[in-house]
This record gives sequence, C-alpha cells and structure tokens, in this order.
Amino acid sequence: MRKMLTENQEHLVASNKEYARHFTSGHLPIPPAKRYLVVTCMDARIPPMAAYGIELGDAHVIRNAGGNARDAYRSILISQHMLGTTEILLIKHTQCGLRTFTNEQGRKLVNEHQGHEVCGPDFDFQPFNDLEGSVREDVKWLKKCGGVVEGGVVSGWVYQCEDGKVKHIC
Ligand SMILES: [Zn+2]
Repeated sequence: MRKMLTENQEHLVASNKEYARHFTSGHLPIPPAKRYLVVTCMDARIPPMAAYGIELGDAHVIRNAGGNARDAYRSILISQHMLGTTEILLIKHTQCGLRTFTNEQGRKLVNEHQGHEVCGPDFDFQPFNDLEGSVREDVKWLKKCGGVVEGGVVSGWVYQCEDGKVKHIC
C-alpha cells in the first residue's frame, strides 16, 4: 500500500501541479541576472519575492533565523565567487523571534525539549536586542570578513512586519 502523505506533503503536490501547469521559465541560467543577493530572515510572514520585488532568476535569497550574515556566509561565498553576484542586501525585520530570548534561555529550552544536551554552554544562537544595531553590525562584519568580492556593495535594511515597508539603515 502507498504511504499516506501528510497534509503539507499533499499541499506541496497539489499546488506544485498547478504551478507546473503554467511554468515557462525552464530556460533560465544559474547565475542571477541582476547579480545581487539578499540575506533575510526565515520568518513565515516575509515573502521576499513579492515584498522585495525579486523576479524569478534575478537574485539569490539566503534565508535563516534572524537574517544572519555569519550564518549565511557559506552561501554568500558561493553566490559571489561562483555565481557572479556583486551586491548584498541584508534585510532584518521588526518583531523578529531572535529578539525574544537570550542564549542561555535558548540553550535551556532546546536541551529540555529534547531531553538531553543538544546545545553546550558555548552554543550561540546569535540573538539580539537592538534591531538597527544588529543590521549595522552584520553589514560591518560582511565588509570586514574578507569573503565579499572586491568593490562589492553591501547595505543594511529593516522590513517592517507591521506595514510591509522596508527602511534603509546603512
Ligand atoms: Zn526574524
């Protein structure tokens, strides 16, 4: 007997069937046409393509918890050095979950939830308090990390979950 699909798996199959019916972009090359990449949070309320005006094939979108530059670094190196991007837009957002806990609380929560130690005393979730300060710090880190292409442009932004607007920080 065929294994039952979960509700989310069913949803994937059904919506993809509809998507593929109208799909006409199979010819696009691997390198992003507009040669930029976006680092942003994985928050479920942010639709990067629509909110940031990204068309299919135009840009890389690297998502993780917090829109964290260090966490995105592996993908940034691939994007910049293998696929030709020369500009980075780092976009964090208001109401980010990374502002709701400390490292100590996060470690305790995961370890208790799992029933054994997953996060040692040095595990760093890279939470933050100051949103704009954290954007500036990540942009500064990117400019100094040594992996961003020579002459590349790095800027920092905040997406506002309250009204869908982006704000330029640095
Ligand atoms: Zn977030």
